[in-house]
Amino acid sequence: MSSQTEGEYELPEDRLEESQPQCPFGVGGGCCRICYMGPCRVTDGAHGMDRGVCGATPGTVAARNLYREIAAGAASHADHAREIAEVLEEIADGGLSAYDIQDPEKLEAVAADLGIEAETDDENELAKLVAEAAIEDFQGAGETLNWLDRMPDEQREFLEEQGIQPKPSVDMEVARAMHRTTQGNDADPVHLLSGALEAGMADGYAGLTMGTDLQDVVFGRPQPVETEANLGTLEKDQVNIAVHGHSPVLSEIIVEMAEELEPAAREAGAEGINLVGICCTGNELAERRGIPLAAHSTQAELAVTTGALDAMVADIQCIWPGIGDVIECHHTKLLTTTDYVRIPGAEHVSFDPETAEADAREIVQRGIDAYEDRNSRQEYDVEIPDERASAMVGISEDYVLEVLEAASPEDPVAPVVDALEAGQLKGIVGIVGCPNPKQRTADMTERLIEGLLAENVLPIVTGCIGHVTAQAGYLDPARTDELAGDGLSEVLHALGNAAGLDGPLPPVWHMGSCVDNSRIGNLVRAISEGADVPTRELPVAASAPELIAEKAVSIGAWALTLGLPVHTAPTLHMDQSEEVSRIMTEDLKGITGGYAIQEEDPDAAIDALVAAVDERRLALFDETGA
Ligand code: SF4
Ligand code: SF4
Repeated sequence: MSSQTEGEYELPEDRLEESQPQCPFGVGGGCCRICYMGPCRVTDGAHGMDRGVCGATPGTVAARNLYREIAAGAASHADHAREIAEVLEEIADGGLSAYDIQDPEKLEAVAADLGIEAETDDENELAKLVAEAAIEDFQGAGETLNWLDRMPDEQREFLEEQGIQPKPSVDMEVARAMHRTTQGNDADPVHLLSGALEAGMADGYAGLTMGTDLQDVVFGRPQPVETEANLGTLEKDQVNIAVHGHSPVLSEIIVEMAEELEPAAREAGAEGINLVGICCTGNELAERRGIPLAAHSTQAELAVTTGALDAMVADIQCIWPGIGDVIECHHTKLLTTTDYVRIPGAEHVSFDPETAEADAREIVQRGIDAYEDRNSRQEYDVEIPDERASAMVGISEDYVLEVLEAASPEDPVAPVVDALEAGQLKGIVGIVGCPNPKQRTADMTERLIEGLLAENVLPIVTGCIGHVTAQAGYLDPARTDELAGDGLSEVLHALGNAAGLDGPLPPVWHMGSCVDNSRIGNLVRAISEGADVPTRELPVAASAPELIAEKAVSIGAWALTLGLPVHTAPTLHMDQSEEVSRIMTEDLKGITGGYAIQEEDPDAAIDALVAAVDERRLALFDETGA
């Protein structure tokens, strides 16, 4: 932290301390604030009301609260997907000069999966049809969501038999969720949670999967690439520009404009322009361009305190308003760019894909201007921590499938099935979400990942957990032998060999941003269909070990619909209702095959996740003899 800022403001961990003790009704999902007779604090426990003023039970209140969280998450991812769908449509119409289709193979693969065929070989015609199918999923013109075709058929049919089926539009799904959960409306906890699962499913396909699919079409599928992580990637003598948020639509053009404006930066006295990534915009640029991963969302304020950051460019989601306070003590420009996202203290540069190059040029120029301001200040310290770790990122599902095919051309999933049967691989856990200051002090993610690796469970990471693991060195193939159990290490060496690498794949696989949780879903689907095993029987689980956002709850709901065990820490907002807790941790097993695991202690979480995947692994081979 540079001296001009020490003691002058608070960071997230300070504010968390001030927030203690947190309200047990809020934490436990027993607080209802949806009408002006409340707030009502209801509980099945000893202290509090057992009914709200309207008569709502703790089960009704907790189920409504969870449903609203999931709807908010679905709305976030769907709005993210809508942006790239509209960009693709404009590309197809010939209306956007800054963008084109960089991955026609992905376009064809997505179109084929959706059953879309063009009449000619014209790439733009196919792109237009795919974009229209995407936009239809916001309008509800079809019988069901088009993107639901990207779900494993077997699990989709299984859920349909249970009466779980999203509406034809993700926007309608969100609107219905808000309506159903208003005061004096749907009050049955089971019925409410069934709606919540449908919202999670809509998110999984018309949010996450659509977002990733179309971003790959426009910007290309990731391939493994070496990069570096942590605040040490900032450079004292360069113009440091950090892109923060979730969307690659602006940041991809900023990469180009940073190259174009290198001479201007040198003229301003800098050695060049150093573009780095924060949060999921960082993951998007890292996995496609190898741009360094400077900081996760919880460290964004810390990045400003180095005194080295000249501009922080914000697009959407997870951009904490506390950044606006921190920049008051610095020369750093916080630039918001999405017209519906404003932050006190920020300057706004309105971004429009139609004027992408001019907008990105202006943003980079503001970074250069801020660098000049930094250099002109008489007493201004720059203190960049000497922390940077090597990381291999961009291990997409398609790359994994290519490697498996190289290892076993006749039956690409055979190496996975064989490793599971031999116990070299006990299972796979998708570890996702954000770093929560509540869990950071206990190194929850690091302890969980080291414990899983030692037990021969493969972690696949996305989102800001990807930053945490990169900073810890877990994405470095040089650490595979040290961190992975013997069996898993052998598997990673064999796959590295099949991939033509000099050594193993890294012990933890970085699969991208939060919308790229869809890549984990696609990999699970490929294994399920290749091995002819339902997803709800595969030794695969999900974990948000430092849960923060409603978006992560929604992703978890989607994983539950795939039939996966889903771990969260902190525990979900449901402890004040015994009924909702029982439904989520037990009853759901008979409905989707998935269930919630609630463990805040790292060792207990490791035990629970290893037991969850190993139970399925053993059942798989006992029952099928595969
Ligand atoms: S009861 Fe609800 S509104 Fe009141 S402090 Fe707790 S969480 Fe906040
Ligand atoms: S809807 Fe019922 S439980 Fe909720 S605040 Fe109003 S009276 Fe209280």
